[in-house]
Amino acid sequence: MATRIDGKAIAQAVRSEVASGVAEFTQRHGRAPGLHVILAGDDPASAVYVRNKEKMAKEVGIAGEVHRPDRSITQDELMALVSQLNADPQVDGILVQLPLFQHLVAAPVLDLIDPAKDVDGFHPVNVGRLWSGLGGLVPCTPRGCMRLLAEAGAELKGARAMVVGRSNLVGKPMAALLLAQHCTVTLAHSRTRDLGQRCREADILVAAVGRAKMIKRDWVKPGAIVIDVGMNRDENGKLCGDVDYAEVEPIAQAITPVPGGVGPMTIAMLLDNTLTAAKAREGEG
Ligand code: NDP
Repeated sequence: MATRIDGKAIAQAVRSEVASGVAEFTQRHGRAPGLHVILAGDDPASAVYVRNKEKMAKEVGIAGEVHRPDRSITQDELMALVSQLNADPQVDGILVQLPLFQHLVAAPVLDLIDPAKDVDGFHPVNVGRLWSGLGGLVPCTPRGCMRLLAEAGAELKGARAMVVGRSNLVGKPMAALLLAQHCTVTLAHSRTRDLGQRCREADILVAAVGRAKMIKRDWVKPGAIVIDVGMNRDENGKLCGDVDYAEVEPIAQAITPVPGGVGPMTIAMLLDNTLTAAKAREGEG
């Protein structure tokens, strides 16, 4: 039976660490780290995510604001808002929640964010820094996965890691982080041949696909550590991951559940990234 990696508890521990760090920062600098979120879209799920981010930021003592422009906002006005936040010394983190209203284009907005304030880690400068091993702000979900692997006691050096899914959001940065920890990484996608066989070779298996219970028992090496990023609905409308938990759990060494695995780590890491950005901007590296 696998160890269940408890993302909910680990995320709580991360938030406590961040809260202490924020309190110390606030004392040192006479101001709290500032996170500003722009919600310029009408996706109901985004509204929930942003409310959660706002609530948890407040809980750990991070200052800031959620900007909710109405749908009449133009591309130029949105760009002007980002520029204004870039210039504001009280602002350490800027997050533009996607998707935007349909008439807006995301890429130029994301590219305009000051890389030093890019707490999502999506700016090309931060992507380049990650792949070059130069530090910088790292996307929250993969960072959360790395913390879960550390908590599970995963031996990464020399391990074979398989990441299924190559999105800019999850799969690619996950591969970069595993590589930086000396894993031998395979990054698979929808055109990968013999995917099950390739997965079965992995000591560390990360699934970031978005297909309910796609990864079955015979795709998993006995004793592997399995991180399930997927968030899907099963045939009964229940939240589930990309991994068939019931099938895989008996043979894995450790596995994250869905819900309660990777999900809670994402916001915790966003808060941590905000503190990291604030410290760096104050020259604390
Ligand atoms: P994307 O849709 O951007 O990427 C999915 C990736 O999976 C693509 O690279 C795609 O390949 C690959 N893929 C699709 N079908 C298959 C298949 N049959 N076999 C192999 N690979 C396949 O998704 P995201 O990366 O944004 O998200 C992935 C999952 O993680 C989703 O369920 C999402 O909800 C969840 N998620 C969870 C988060 C959390 O906080 N827990 C945060 C972010 C995402 P190709 O490139 O060839 O099309």
